[in-house]
Parts: sequence; C-alpha cells; structure tokens
Amino acid sequence: MTDQTVRFGLLVSMFQAMLRERSAPKKRRFFRKFLDRVYTGREYFSAVRLILPSLDRERGTYGLKEVALAQCLVDALGLAKDSPDAVRLLNWRKAGSRAGQNAGNFAMIAAEVLQSRQGMSSGGLTIKELNDALDRLATTENRSEKASVLAGLINKTNALEMKWILMIILKDLKLGISEKSIFHEFHPDAEDLFNVTCDLKLVCEKLKDRGQRHKRQDIEVGKAVRAQLAMRVSDASAAWKKLHGKQVVAECKFDGDRIQIHKNGGEIHFFSRNFIDHPEYAHGMSKLIKENILVDRCILDGEMLVWDTTANRFADFGSNQEIAKAAREGFESDRQNIDVAFDVLYAGDTSVIHQTLAERHEILRKIIRPIKGQFELLLPNMGLNENRQPGEPCWSIIASSQEDVEKFFKETIENRDEGIVVKDLGSKWEPGDRSGKWLKLKPDYIHAGSDLDVLIIGGYFGSGRHGGEVAQFLVGLAERSDPDTYPKRFLSFCRVGTGLSDEELNTLVNKLKPYFMKNEYPKRTPRFYEVTNNSKERPDVWIESPDKSVLVSITSDIRTIKSEVFAAPYSLRFPRIHRVRYDKPWHECLDVQEFVEIVRSSNGT
Ligand code: ATP
Repeated sequence: MTDQTVRFGLLVSMFQAMLRERSAPKKRRFFRKFLDRVYTGREYFSAVRLILPSLDRERGTYGLKEVALAQCLVDALGLAKDSPDAVRLLNWRKAGSRAGQNAGNFAMIAAEVLQSRQGMSSGGLTIKELNDALDRLATTENRSEKASVLAGLINKTNALEMKWILMIILKDLKLGISEKSIFHEFHPDAEDLFNVTCDLKLVCEKLKDRGQRHKRQDIEVGKAVRAQLAMRVSDASAAWKKLHGKQVVAECKFDGDRIQIHKNGGEIHFFSRNFIDHPEYAHGMSKLIKENILVDRCILDGEMLVWDTTANRFADFGSNQEIAKAAREGFESDRQNIDVAFDVLYAGDTSVIHQTLAERHEILRKIIRPIKGQFELLLPNMGLNENRQPGEPCWSIIASSQEDVEKFFKETIENRDEGIVVKDLGSKWEPGDRSGKWLKLKPDYIHAGSDLDVLIIGGYFGSGRHGGEVAQFLVGLAERSDPDTYPKRFLSFCRVGTGLSDEELNTLVNKLKPYFMKNEYPKRTPRFYEVTNNSKERPDVWIESPDKSVLVSITSDIRTIKSEVFAAPYSLRFPRIHRVRYDKPWHECLDVQEFVEIVRSSNGT
C-alpha cells in the first residue's frame, strides 16, 4: 500500500498503541509492524515526517502555536467567538468554566470540543491527503485559508484523528519514544545519515532497505549538520579528570544562538541548531562573510551574538533576530549582530571534521579575516583575544593543568555570564555528539548569601500537568518604607516556577486562590505594584493586596541580570523557590536597596 491508499487512521492506531505501551522495545515493534505490514509501498517519508514532525524541513513552518491554532479552529468550526467552546479553545490553558483534567493540553481540549461535532466514524483521510493539506496550511499566510484547510480535514476525520493532526501541527506527539529509537528501528544508519544532512526525506529514500548498510556519508556545504554538543561536568577537577593527558583548550561559553554559516561561492546560509535557515542575518552579514572567508566553500561553527557599537563590547540585551530584522529594515541602532566562529567543518573542497581540533584551529587562522564587532574568531592567540580591552580577561586559553581551568572558569564567571566549554584539542568534530569531547562548566545554583525572601504579587497559569491552575509566580521586592511603617509598594522582580513539589505548589496555590484577581482586559495593575510596560511580565492573576500574600525564599544562579522586563533594576537568572515562608510576615520582604547591596557585594552585576 502507498500513501495514496493508506489511511491516516492506520497511523493513528499505531500512535494509540504506542501511547498505551510503556516499554520502549514494544513501542518500536509497533513502528516496525506499521512499516512492514502497512506501508508496503515503502514511500516511507510521507509517514515518517508525520511521526517525527519536528525534524521535517521540507515543509515551511505553519506559523501556528496553540492560540493561533485555536483561532483557526474556531473559524473552521464556525463557532461564535463568545460561545463556550470557542472560549474553551482560546483559553486552553485554563479550559474555561468546564475546566477538567485536560486543561493545559491543547490537543485534548480540541478533541473534546470536536467530539460532539465529529463523532467516532472516520472520513477515510489518506496519508497523502493529509500531507497535501499540511502543505497548503504551511504555504498560506491567510488565516481564513488556514481555517478552510482545517475545515476540510475536519470533514474527513474523527475527533481522535483530528487530535493527532493537531499534535503533528504543533510538532510534539508526546509518544514517549525518543527520536533515536525511531531512527534505529527504521535503519541502523538512519541517525548517522540524518546527523550529517538534517534531511529526513533523503534518509527515508536512501535507507529503504534495513538489511543494506549505508556507507558513512560526509558533510556537504549547504546541508545543515547536527551540532556537536557539550556534556555538563560539575567542576574543573571533573573536567580535568575526564580529559586527562589530553591537550585542552578552555573557551568562554557565549550566551547567544548557535549558528552554522555555510558559504558556497556567493551563496550564504545561516543554520540554527534546529537546522532552520535564518536569511534575516543575510542583510547585515552576507557581504562581510563573503569577503572575509578566504575560501570559496566553507562551513563555520559558532555563536551569533549582539555587539554594542557605543560601548564597544558584547551587548547585555537584544535578541539576535530582532537586531537582524531592524538592520534589514534600515533602522539606525547602536547594536549589530556579531558572529563568533569557534570551529570549522569544511574548508575549500573538503570536509575537515575528521581532523583534530588543533588542526581545525590552524585552518580557521588561515581562512578567516576577523572584523572587530562583526565577525570574530575564538582562538587562543588571535581574533577576540587579541582585540581585548585593557584588563579584560581572555576569551579562551590553552590549559595545561587543572589549576589553569579553575582559574579561567573563575575569571570567566566573575566577568561574564554563562560559564566555560573545555575541549579536547585532539578530538574530531562529531555531528550530534554529546559524549564528552566538549565539556561545559557552569556556575551552580547558590544560596545568595542570605536567602532572598520576596513577595508573591501575581500568578501565571501553567500548561500540561499544571494546566488550568497557577503554576508560576511573579515575585516582587519591597520599595523601602519609612522606619516603623510597612512597605506600600512592590516592584516586579522575576518570574519563578520551579523548586516546589506538586504538593507544596498545591498548598500554596490553594492558600492564595481566594485573593487572585484576574488580570483581564482592560489590564489594570493594582496600586501596590509597580511593573514595566513589558507584556512578558504581566501575570494572569494579581494578588489582591500584599498583606494577603506570602513570602518565598528564592535561590538562583549566582549571576544577576540587569532587568528591562521587570521593574526592579536587576532580575535573577534561573530562579527557583527554595521554600515558602509561611513563618515570616509579608512586610519583611527584601527591599530593593538591600538587594542592590547584595548584588554589589557579590560583584554580581
Ligand atoms: P545550555 O542550556 O547550557 O546552553 P545547550 O543545551 O544549549 O546548553 P550544550 O551542548 O549544553 O547546549 O552547550 C553547547 C552550546 O553552548 C552550543 O550549542 C552553543 O550554542 C553554546 N556555546 C557558547 N560558546 C561556545 C563555545 N565556545 N563552544 C561551543 N559551544 C558554545
């Protein structure tokens, strides 16, 4: 049978069987059975792309996250905007007044809404018809056309099939089986081939015969390669032990976006870690890259960041893509994108991933002309390191002892953000590998000297397991009040959602629930709280007044960040709730000045 004749319902039966089964080998067996007994036409790509939708790059993106998808479904079903079902779909996190266990799971909520309209019997949609419809959904930008594609699908499916289609569109099937297992079941060489091509179609076409091994393929310019990744280690001594006896380079771990630059003559691609091409970088960078990579064909591995041209250093803020789009639209700005190349995978007419890192460094040195603030090189004695400001620490070093790594790590986190990456200079570049040729060291969570006891001022609804309930909090710092009076205002400080067990979270939410005030249109901030205009921090509910709330102790990564999103001058990276302070009155909340002093004394700016 081919995709023209195989009904999507058969794939759904496989999904359902996998979902019911806990053991991974049995889940794999269902997949094998489907391939061998159902998909006998062996046009595997048309089915595999529906099983691994997040790896399918043949189709563009749908531009549909849950909320947009809900709007299209409302239109497709012809629901009135204020009808209970439309409200349920649009408020999928809370699931409207009939909140049930499915709140926070969009596909399940949608299946409930569809159930009463579609019933149980399938309209016989084939896999081919589904792929054609999904192609149309991806190509049209127009919402009513998207809705009409969905309406067509609804006509040819039942609610269960539609649920899986929605999960395919959202690119997360939650099947409880890893992509690695799917690949291995498909063909022993499938993962390897995917890693060097990031091309699912090619994998499905070349590896139809499971019994026939495929000669290991090398990388090609123009096809994204799966990124080599770093294994986390706890400290410098663990890193040193792991790389014992090796020649080692330690590099700053930059906090930007991993980008692979592919140059093929005049053609330049910027592939992100999930192998999407980002043409928005072309305007600001293509010409510069063409001129300053001195070979015709090349693949560079590196990190894209933002450079502050006024301060002449990496910028603390600014999203890469926003800066790129602003540049394309011709807006004047003191920020620009900068690519820091730390590795090379292809140079001239050959792949160099099989050469050692030390050899690849030599190649980088020869083929790149670095441009300060735009196109830099991360090499121990060149590029960024050469262009350092006086007194600024190195960006990378050759380490010959554990002490070297320790010292470099300490200097880096004192002066910069993320941590360091330690690499074996004798290692090859291995696509998709995280086995320990690169090690990352990051600062641990610490209790910031004394505990930071801050006040909960708002809440955000969760999704998934926590759907329909508040699962994260907006916490605030007190504005210092006159002695002997209680604080009157609180500045939003950070959003925190982790650290509590489910039970602790339930108890806390139940205690606060009577004082939740919905933050609905028109949005109005209670007079006790100060927030910025940034919509990211707006909670779904406010706490009616500070005296009704409780303090929580939070801990964080040692680093603080200057805050543009929240009202307080600094926020925290990766905050977690350490415990709930039911024992401490609300008015003993940490105040802004105290916090600024803690930050200064730990030199954490
Ligand atoms: P994290 O959340 O810690 O950034 P991650 O899941 O993004 O981890 P890791 O494999 O743990 O990825 O770390 C590698 C990432 O670190 C790379 O994808 C890259 O974006 C970033 N990075 C920054 N500086 C470097 C560097 N000098 N060498 C390699 N990777 C670097």
